[in-house]
Amino acid sequence: MQLRPVSGLPEIRPGDDLASLLAERIDPGPDSVLCLASTVLSKAEGRFAALEEFPAGPRAREIAARLEERTGEEKDPRFAQAVLEESTELLMESPFLLTETRFGHICVNAGIDRSNTGGEDLLLLPKHPSESAARLSEALSVPVIVTDTCGRPFRHGQRGVAIGWAGMPASRDWRGEHDRDGRELGVTVENVIDELAAAANLVAGEGDGGVPAVLVEGFEFGGMAGSDEHFREVEDDYVRQALRGWSHE
Ligand code: GDP
Ligand code: MN
Ligand code: MN
Ligand code: MN
Repeated sequence: MQLRPVSGLPEIRPGDDLASLLAERIDPGPDSVLCLASTVLSKAEGRFAALEEFPAGPRAREIAARLEERTGEEKDPRFAQAVLEESTELLMESPFLLTETRFGHICVNAGIDRSNTGGEDLLLLPKHPSESAARLSEALSVPVIVTDTCGRPFRHGQRGVAIGWAGMPASRDWRGEHDRDGRELGVTVENVIDELAAAANLVAGEGDGGVPAVLVEGFEFGGMAGSDEHFREVEDDYVRQALRGWSHE
């Protein structure tokens, strides 16, 4: 498997035709997957915002005040308001905002970016990453994964995760396959889109490198069954249930 950075893409602006810009620069084969940083999808979709578009309500002011107290850093209540408006559930509000976005992704600050925002205050995540991925996948005849850089619990640092995908299953199901001792695997469902997203994010980098797209070549899904389960529903997410328990204590 190889990862090829797609270079030479311009600064993306609202209304840009990402499919054409990408089509000029890639030649995907049957075992290719295109990984695209959500940042450029957001830019093409015009998801820029100014803080003044989010006048803070009482809840956002309360959250920002508590965050300031806890972290000792200045917090803009309008940013808290933006996060609330992009979210359907607030899982933690201190010492950072952990929320669920409208499309089911749980992350800090609803994934709102304050870097690589094309000079605007904020860049919101794409509205429907999987729907956008589907349009690109159709136009380019290649599976597409939309990535974002994200932190994770229990470990330091961030890495790329998949927040949208199309043209391939999210996971491959190893259940029923065998290990080296002939034991049947009973549990393992491998989330392939997160794995590819992490690898692509490694190639894309986080700064001013200008590589928002990475073409994975020679990736073979194998004969395993596929599954499109990705974001957990709360009923089978015990960590989230525990967080709810805490916040209601
Ligand atoms: P995120 O992980 O989706 O939040 O995106 P990042 O801000 O980490 O950017 C990922 C990569 O895309 C980095 O190499 C950036 O330099 C690059 N990038 C971000 N915006 C643009 C853009 O408009 N045009 C180009 N060519 N590269 C960009
Ligand atoms: Mn981001
Ligand atoms: Mn990033
Ligand atoms: Mn193992």
